[in-house]
Amino acid sequence: MNGSMMQLPLLISSLLVHAERHHGEQEIVSRRVEGDIHRTTYRELAARSRRMANALAGLGIKSGDRVATLAWNGHRHLELYYAVSGSGAVLHTLNPRLHADQVVYIADHAEDEALFFDLTFLPLVEAIAHRVKTIKTFVVMTDRAHMPAASKIPNLLCYEELAAASSDAFAWPSFDENQASSLCYTSGTTGNPKGVLYSHRSTVLHTFAIALPDALNCSARDSILPVVPMFHVNAWGLPYAACMMGSKLVFPGPGLDGKSLYELFEYERVTLSAGVPTVWQGLLGYVDANDLKFSTMRRTVIGGSACPPAMMKTFQERYDVQVLHAWGMTEMSPVGTVAALKGSQVGLDAPTRFAIQAKQGRAVYGVDMKIVGADGAELPWDGVQSGELMVRGPWVIDQYFKGEGGDPLVKDGEGDGWFPTGDVATIDASGFMQITDRSKDVIKSGGEWIGSIDLENIAMAHPSVAMAACIAATHAKWDERPLLVVVKKPNAEVTRDELLAFYEGRIAKWWTPDDVVFVEAIPLGATGKMLKNRLREQYGRHLLDKS
Ligand code: AMP
Repeated sequence: MNGSMMQLPLLISSLLVHAERHHGEQEIVSRRVEGDIHRTTYRELAARSRRMANALAGLGIKSGDRVATLAWNGHRHLELYYAVSGSGAVLHTLNPRLHADQVVYIADHAEDEALFFDLTFLPLVEAIAHRVKTIKTFVVMTDRAHMPAASKIPNLLCYEELAAASSDAFAWPSFDENQASSLCYTSGTTGNPKGVLYSHRSTVLHTFAIALPDALNCSARDSILPVVPMFHVNAWGLPYAACMMGSKLVFPGPGLDGKSLYELFEYERVTLSAGVPTVWQGLLGYVDANDLKFSTMRRTVIGGSACPPAMMKTFQERYDVQVLHAWGMTEMSPVGTVAALKGSQVGLDAPTRFAIQAKQGRAVYGVDMKIVGADGAELPWDGVQSGELMVRGPWVIDQYFKGEGGDPLVKDGEGDGWFPTGDVATIDASGFMQITDRSKDVIKSGGEWIGSIDLENIAMAHPSVAMAACIAATHAKWDERPLLVVVKKPNAEVTRDELLAFYEGRIAKWWTPDDVVFVEAIPLGATGKMLKNRLREQYGRHLLDKS
């Protein structure tokens, strides 16, 4: 017997309709590429998204067509989030930090029909426009006054002209909630990136989950500034969650330096932010150098790579900003776990509590996880044994776009499919997961695994260290040994021996890195993660060469 409740599909447009009807006056603030601070509301967002939906139809975009963006976090990008997906087309957020060749590969693979881009990216678009095979329409996300005087791209369209020429009367269509809504490509540090195609259903369910109090905890009282780009897994879902909850949204545009971010945090009374550890480093450096405080910001979500405990401590103890350590992947929409304390843990002593919060956290409802050994058997949740982390849930990938790479899932004894994350983790008895490594970054010394994240976290706690990566270096006797690659803080001094001595008592002696290499900068990928494969290419033979 079926229940007798309404069958309303979970569609992304419903988030916008809700925001317009119930939070119409709520503000959306954007620092724009043009240099101004722009203010609008959810009411206006909804009207302009409908205009753009009409404009897309006028450009010949049909249901299922891919519409690409190369854009910062801003109100026009948000309008496209709703206009494209809401009208039944697929929003493909391209990552502008990728090499032009990769952008071409991805746009061709996705068969994008149109490309909307911020002025910043005109040189990139000019470099790829004659190479991409399927993009017919190029739109600059600006007004007439800021349109480039001359461009190599023929028939360049102006976003504001398209909006002005289109009616704001548009009825969001209803369709199957499993229809594709948006497309993101994985970072692809090795091999070509693969597409992850989200559905309306997966997106709306993910939105419910991340807004919950023990996840990112978004409310109508929050002012949310997503530093994480809208071109990286939909800014972790915050553009959707803000609409669902009626939160104020503050978009930093291209201003991701410490000063620009800090000013927005203060002027716009930001309460919640989110980003990768490398961004926070710049912000904390600025706040520290200028002896500033955060007057309203009380929570920040840190994920994308492991949050160094030293950074967490600074945020919490020095600035009274609670760090929500979160873990996820493009293939998971992206949120999987958040390190929110349980009731039984709140009364624990501060160092114990802190050690729990420094883990990647426990599964949000909707995501199940397990760790497995080399034989595929599930390992116990004892916080000690580590194995490959596998996940399943309604916002976890079933297969890559166009079936690329075959079936990625691994079947368990019951025939259920699990997605192998490629991360190595422990899970403790309370269900808190801790990543010890990416499986391809694990250091195998004499057959035993050494987790590089622990070693990096210790180095990061040293006052002279700005950034640290630990990589596997080939070793004549032990196959691999840890090698520490370090960027010093400006004007700070520290020697190899001092750094190695810093490990004493903090880790098993045999885990101590064999050597330290000081570098000017550690290469970062398009989503702010350290490119350890690049470091391995460069320094992988360092110990052999030295001996
Ligand atoms: P991406 O799909 O680009 O978001 O990358 C996902 C990968 O980033 C994961 O599989 C992890 O290896 C890594 N990652 C994400 N969040 C964390 C975290 N909090 N701690 C450690 N690694 C993380």
